[in-house]
Amino acid sequence: MSKMKLKIEKTAVTGFCVGVRRAIDILEKVARERGQIETLGPVVHNRHVMQRLADIGVRAANSVEEIQGNTVAISAHGVGPAMEEKIRERNIEIVNLTCSFVRRAQNAAQKLASDGFFVIVYGDMNHTEVKGILGWADGKGIATMDENLFSTTERLPHRLGVLSQTTQIPVRFNEFVKKIIDHALTKDAELRIIDTICHDIRERQQATLELANRVDIMLVIGSHSSANTNHLTELCTTATKTYQVETAEEIEPSWFTGKEHVGITSGTSTAEETINEVVAKLESL
Ligand code: SF4
Repeated sequence: MSKMKLKIEKTAVTGFCVGVRRAIDILEKVARERGQIETLGPVVHNRHVMQRLADIGVRAANSVEEIQGNTVAISAHGVGPAMEEKIRERNIEIVNLTCSFVRRAQNAAQKLASDGFFVIVYGDMNHTEVKGILGWADGKGIATMDENLFSTTERLPHRLGVLSQTTQIPVRFNEFVKKIIDHALTKDAELRIIDTICHDIRERQQATLELANRVDIMLVIGSHSSANTNHLTELCTTATKTYQVETAEEIEPSWFTGKEHVGITSGTSTAEETINEVVAKLESL
């Protein structure tokens, strides 16, 4: 174990993002007023936050069929219109916690599709947010991160609308868009590109990378099931030795042998309290 006093530095942007903060505040308020509320799937990708919410009566239903009460909250990731319809058909009231940045991407997909554009969402096709965005494109779109889409797909529609999952890495989205432009403009295509990356993600990634370039080691705090946390880890790894932990208990003192300067960042669903616990653990090494 290192006996050297570690210099600990946090990024300027840590803790909950505005969308997660709002979702948790509303859930807490509704749970207090009604004694309980269900959410469709986990409302944040963080076991500890979900446990705290469970303690005040917030229960996650994994599908519409599993909803037991007459009110359900949709997470900050949002859902497509077909899912909203399915919930309403069962006379279940919706508390819509969809983040405004996700809503912006959903609106963009809906507008593009109604204007006759085929929608390409740069993102993970298995992610809840992406499925929801595509739902608003009314079946006229795909999700991909394959930059070679044009060379591998025989024929794509002539009018293409491109947007991004809100939590993607901006510089990668730029590269993706450039490739599409290069291919599409040789095929008489019409392109509409909309920047739908969340502002918090953009700032958090910039601040994180700036710090990662100055420290000996980075700790990224957040769940492995959180897309934005995994992207932070991916970015930090390009700059320095990086570990991702969900809680302070996962920290191994041996990681810090010979290190002087440690940087800390967090995903958007990591509570400030968890970050403080990590700092306290580092200070005790
Ligand atoms: S990361 Fe951005 S898009 Fe996602 S919930 Fe937070 S503020 Fe909204």
